[in-house]
Amino acid sequence: EPIKIYPWTDELFARLNNYFHIQSFRPNQLEAINSTLQSKDVFVLMPTGGGKSLCYQLPAIMKSGTTHGTTVVISPLISLMQDQVESLLSLNIKTSMFSSKNSAQQRKITFDLLLNNKLNLIYISPEMISSSKQCQEAIHSLYQQGNLARVVIDEAHCVSNWGHDFRPDYKKLNIFKQKYPEVPVIALTATANEFVQNDIIKNLGLNNPATFRQSFNRDNLYYQILPKDKTTIPLMAKFIKELFPNQTGIIYCHSKSSCEKLATLLQKENISCQFYHAGMNQNDRIHVQKQWQNNQIQVIVATIAFGMGIDKADVRFVFHYTVPRTLENYYQETGRAGRDGKYSYCITFYSLSDVRTLQKMIQRDKNLDKENKLRHLDKLKEVMQYCDDKITCRRKLVLSYFSEEFNSKDCHCNCDNCSKKTTSQSTLTGETITNDVEEEEKDITDVTKQIVELVSSIHNEKVTASYCQDIIRGSKMSKIVQAGHDDLAQHGKGKDFNKADMERIFFHLITLRILQEYSINNNMGFASNYVKVGPNAKNLKNPSYSIHLKFYKEKRQ
Ligand code: ADP
Ligand code: ZN
Repeated sequence: EPIKIYPWTDELFARLNNYFHIQSFRPNQLEAINSTLQSKDVFVLMPTGGGKSLCYQLPAIMKSGTTHGTTVVISPLISLMQDQVESLLSLNIKTSMFSSKNSAQQRKITFDLLLNNKLNLIYISPEMISSSKQCQEAIHSLYQQGNLARVVIDEAHCVSNWGHDFRPDYKKLNIFKQKYPEVPVIALTATANEFVQNDIIKNLGLNNPATFRQSFNRDNLYYQILPKDKTTIPLMAKFIKELFPNQTGIIYCHSKSSCEKLATLLQKENISCQFYHAGMNQNDRIHVQKQWQNNQIQVIVATIAFGMGIDKADVRFVFHYTVPRTLENYYQETGRAGRDGKYSYCITFYSLSDVRTLQKMIQRDKNLDKENKLRHLDKLKEVMQYCDDKITCRRKLVLSYFSEEFNSKDCHCNCDNCSKKTTSQSTLTGETITNDVEEEEKDITDVTKQIVELVSSIHNEKVTASYCQDIIRGSKMSKIVQAGHDDLAQHGKGKDFNKADMERIFFHLITLRILQEYSINNNMGFASNYVKVGPNAKNLKNPSYSIHLKFYKEKRQ
């Protein structure tokens, strides 16, 4: 398509080259910029690394166009703002920032610059907009001078309760359109399904915004789910040493302590790595991040505290040692791999017991009300379904979450499920595999009845779900034999199911509340999980009640 010519087009390309040293635009950048330069409200949905910043940074230094003055940028993270300000200053673009971190004197200097029309951009934290009178007055004066060029809401999903990172201060950002309706607003985000998108537009009061959505497909990423068990840590170490020598990676964990433990174990395997989490003091965190950024550390083992704002292009692998809590997080976190466009790997290690741990963390989270807990639990269930799926293209699944249609042919076998269906060379290990997976639905009503009988007969002895699974599958473990549980009528009644499938059956019964888990704190302060019969077990008495579950048959040739 030929480039549409506007009065500002020449200047735009000149400044793109001279200031940003970039020759051409990426998809949607030029269109978004032309729209804001026409004073329209703009909504930009672009994956992480897609180049959102340019959509407002380039307009901010334009002299032609319908607006002039200073661009106000609202961004949720101070560290992210600092990075942006530094990088803009290094490009000779006049930029400053305003946050609670500034001293009174710094603020005065910043506002003097602002109100003397000396700044192209000013970054402001959302809480300053909602709570600092000084800040509100400065913006108002800027507006009255006719110098409020446009307002940028970065990470705009923070304005939506339905986004993954809601921030109350973002709710108040609707004042911009209320007070200054003719000043154009640009909202940008990397994560929004249609629902969140509409919520953002509504909450910010955007006026019929020009909307740019870009495909979320990342075709240079390989997606894989592997079962998590006791071989996982040695396997990760092997991958890192053999497949990614001297290449950068991130490993995500769910808790501070598991980050620290995993980092220690990998260090013992002579892997250069450090942990990173919110419990560290800020200096330590910055230090670790810098070392990693400068390739002094190969692997960072982190909680989700690590992420927003990191900009390392050559991350070759992202491992999830614990499943993420939402598919949005999964997309964001895996999206940190391969920003330079080179082929990179995203491997998630999946276990039901991790899902259970995350469920408990959500249930115990004092910051969530009941409705939000249910919502988070639903999102976790989506992650579980994603990990459990052994047939559907991973890309198709992830993209459908963002309401994007995807034809799995376009995956070109760059996910585990697609590559299963063909004879292929495993991209990861080099071995040639010919296999296929078939889905079959089984009626598990009978085995469920056996499980319920078993649990009700021995729950007084305080048994765990995994112990009951072993009995049903007919294990002769010494613990079972010594307790005489190999003599129970139900022993071995589920021997046709493998360990993983039996675990899924129990999990399914727990979600149906046919079984229930409960915990007791022992004297060491650790909670153990025991299983008992749940309130819905009575449904099994109804002869027309049946339970079905999907299983997979792998056909390896
Ligand atoms: P996002 O905010 O969408 O995650 P950024 O704005 O940080 O992405 O951009 C990611 C990287 O891509 C940056 O290093 C940026 O300089 C680079 N970039 C952006 N637009 C272009 C372009 N048109 N051509 C080349 N590089 C670009
Ligand atoms: Zn695929």
